[in-house]
Amino acid sequence: MRKGSLVVAVGFLVACSTRPSPAPAVPASEATASTAVTSAEPAADSAPVALASLSDLKIGPFAAEAAHPEQSLCTEASGARGFYGFYRTDAWEKGNTVLTFDDGPHPTATPRVLDLLAKHELPATFFVVGRAISRDTYPLIQRIVAEGHTLGSHSYSHDVKMTRVGAPADSVETIVGQHAVTAILIDISLMAKSGDDFDAMFSQVFERDPAQWLTPGAIKSEYRTFSARHDELLAERGYEDGEHPYTVLYSRPPGGGPYVEHDGAAGIAIYDSALRELKMMNVMWHGASGDTVPEKRSDYGFLTDNLAKYSKSGGVLLIHDYIRSDALAKGLERMVQDDAVKIVPIDDAVRAKYRCDGNTLTAKLHGAAPGSVLAGGSIGPLPAGFGG
Ligand SMILES: [Zn+2]
Repeated sequence: MRKGSLVVAVGFLVACSTRPSPAPAVPASEATASTAVTSAEPAADSAPVALASLSDLKIGPFAAEAAHPEQSLCTEASGARGFYGFYRTDAWEKGNTVLTFDDGPHPTATPRVLDLLAKHELPATFFVVGRAISRDTYPLIQRIVAEGHTLGSHSYSHDVKMTRVGAPADSVETIVGQHAVTAILIDISLMAKSGDDFDAMFSQVFERDPAQWLTPGAIKSEYRTFSARHDELLAERGYEDGEHPYTVLYSRPPGGGPYVEHDGAAGIAIYDSALRELKMMNVMWHGASGDTVPEKRSDYGFLTDNLAKYSKSGGVLLIHDYIRSDALAKGLERMVQDDAVKIVPIDDAVRAKYRCDGNTLTAKLHGAAPGSVLAGGSIGPLPAGFGG
């Protein structure tokens, strides 16, 4: 992240909400937002999209090994909507599937997911919620990275209506702050050597009790202050100017945000503005496991059928860490056994759409030299003792 873009401000502390423990497994807001099990981006995505031609958006073929082309190749696909990202309207090579898990880290659900992925040696991307990251769950952030998976931001507060908090400029500030704070918490997690160390860093950056959640209002008004103090923390921990343990490239709006909430073009424009400022991609989905559908979330057959169906059709598959574990186990087992299904890391999808890998794209977005930024599935300088 470029430090020059940060504005240091001094704000008064505001009251925090008390942090329930553990974090709620199922945000009610998302349960209602994703009741459509099929590609849940109906209204916004059904709006006319100016496609130069379908081939411009063709995803694939997925190369087994990728060169490191120049950043000039990291072009936004002609006719693509919004900022860099994956959308339901993207054409996609059938059977190539990116697994994504939302709403973690969760102290019991996330380890089960990681165990199953390890068993089948499958890569995944975890869109984590900032408020779920704590002294108790930060080791899961470390484990996700150590086991070769990718981290993305799913905001801090999981508010599905961030584009409507006020005037457009206020909404942009809110969205930027929500993802920026989650990225800070990912960095802190990767540097933490113990629960006490996590809490100490939390207190230093946020100047609040780590046992309490940050309020959305505090995040919006103070995230630049938090970022400045985070930079100071990184320097104290031996990071060079601009270096981070992890540069977050991927993000996903809670509940799909304006892309499924029928906000129309205005809401999408607000969210896209925030993504440009954040230098993060937007990762929507093509199919969902259905684990947010209230009356079906425990239905083993429903869940396993969705996992089979949407892994076969290919694209980004939305699952939540809290999915019924035996259904996920069966679903992953079927994917591995199905020759028509290939589970690919999200970085492969970036290469296929933008003709460069995630690290190169991140370097371009941050205005950094090629090869100088490690992100989106890789990590920067490892803190001493990391991975233990
Ligand atoms: Zn979510």
